[in-house]
Amino acid sequence: MRYCGWVVRKVQVGRVLILEVSTSSSVRLSVLVFKPERDRDFYATVRDVDVGTALCFEGFPAEEQKSKRGIEYVVEKLEIYAKPLEPLPVDTAGKTPVLLDTRLKYRWLLARKPEERAIVRIRSGIIKAAREYFEANGFTEIHTPKIVAAGAEGGATLFKVQYFENDAYLSQSPQLYKQMLIASFEKVYEITPYFRAEKFNTPRHLNESWGIDAEQGFISSVEDVMKTLEELVAYIVNYVSKNYREELEELGIQPLQLTTPFKRLKFTEVVDLLRSEGVDVRENEDLSDYAERKLGEIMSEKKHYLYFIVGFPWSSTAFYYMREEDGIYTRKFDLDFKGLEIASGGQREHRYEKLVEALKDKGLNPENYSFYLEAFKYGMPPHGGFGLGIERLLMKILNLENIREAVLFVRDRTRLIP
Ligand code: ATP
Ligand code: MG
Repeated sequence: MRYCGWVVRKVQVGRVLILEVSTSSSVRLSVLVFKPERDRDFYATVRDVDVGTALCFEGFPAEEQKSKRGIEYVVEKLEIYAKPLEPLPVDTAGKTPVLLDTRLKYRWLLARKPEERAIVRIRSGIIKAAREYFEANGFTEIHTPKIVAAGAEGGATLFKVQYFENDAYLSQSPQLYKQMLIASFEKVYEITPYFRAEKFNTPRHLNESWGIDAEQGFISSVEDVMKTLEELVAYIVNYVSKNYREELEELGIQPLQLTTPFKRLKFTEVVDLLRSEGVDVRENEDLSDYAERKLGEIMSEKKHYLYFIVGFPWSSTAFYYMREEDGIYTRKFDLDFKGLEIASGGQREHRYEKLVEALKDKGLNPENYSFYLEAFKYGMPPHGGFGLGIERLLMKILNLENIREAVLFVRDRTRLIP
C-alpha cells in the first residue's frame, strides 16, 4: 500500500528515527520507524526531513505495535514531495495547546492533527448520510439561487450585494424557492449555505453557515414533516456512530444510537413546564437561549436528548407557516438537541389568499413576493419542510463548545479571512 501525508513530529530514540505522519487513509497517525541497520538506504534522507514535509511511503504495519500515537510501519519506499520553507506556525503534533483564535486561523494546517481531522471527516459523513437518506426516500436534490432579490426571514439580516444596476442580497435560506418547487416536485432537498447578517457574537451563530433543507408536498399533516426530519437525524447520527468509530474515539465521544419517534412537546406545554421551574417565558415570543438550555436540562434528565417543540405562536414566526384556526398558534416546530435548536420547520400556508393575508399581517408587501406567490396559483398541494443546521448538529454530536469549531473557515463578525 502507498500512503501520502505530512510529517507532524520527528523523534530520535537512541539510533532509531521515528516520523509521525498524518495521512488520509486514517485519522490515526502513521508512525514510521527507521532503524539504521535495516533502513540504511533511507537513513540519511530521514535524518534531513523536517516537520511539515509532504511525503509518500510504501510499507507494511510492523509486527509489534508499540506506539500509542498511531500505527507503526516498516517502510519499503519513501518519496519526498515538498519541504516546508519555514517552521510551522502551529504544532500539528498536538503536543502544545492552541488558543481558539489561532486554531481558527490555521485550521487548514491543524487539520493534520487527528482530532481536527476527525471533526472534518465526521462533517463530511453527515452530508454523505443525509444524501443517502434523501435518495432512498424519493427526494430530488436541487440548487436554488444564492443571490436573491428578497429575503425569506426579513430584511435586517440580509447581506447586500451590488447586482449590476440592482440591489440584491445573499440568500439567508432557500425557503421561498424550495416551496415554489413543490409546484412540480413532490419532495426536494438542498444542502446549502445560509448567509445571515445578524451582528451576533454567540457560540452558536455564524454569518455563513450550512443547512440541510427539505420540502415535501401532498402531506396530510405537519406530522409527515416531523417524521422525515426525525428519521433523517436518526439516520445521520447512527450512520456516524457506525462508520466513524475511529474519529469518535479520537475525540473521546461515546457513539450515540438514536431511535424514533422523538418526544413531541407543545409550545404551550413548554411554557408551563419552564414556568413551573421558575423560568420567565412569554407566551407570544420565541424561546430565549436560556429557556432552550433550561428545557434541555429538564429533558436530558428524562433521557430525551432530541425533542420537538410544536405549535409556535404566530407572533414569533415567519409569514409562510400555516396558522391554526384560532389564528394564535401555527404549525411551526423546532427540533432541539440537548438544549440547542438544530432545526426549524413546519407546515406551510399553501392557500393563495391566506398567504397574501399572512404577508400583509407581517407588514410585508405582497408585490415584492409576486414571483413566489405565483407558484401558489396553479395547484399547490399542502406541503411542509425544514432547515437543519449542519454545524449545530455536528456541535451536538461532538459536544463542541463553540460552533466555530464545526467549520474549517469561519465567517463571523470579525472573521473574513482566511
Ligand atoms: P436561532 O433562533 O437559533 O438564531 P433561527 O431560528 O434564526 O436560529 P432558522 O431560520 O430556523 O434559524 O434556520 C434553520 C436552522 O439553521 C437553525 O435551526 C439552525 O440550526 C441553523 N442556523 C440558522 N441560522 C444560523 C446561524 N446564524 N448560524 C448557525 N446555524 C444557523
Ligand atoms: Mg429557527
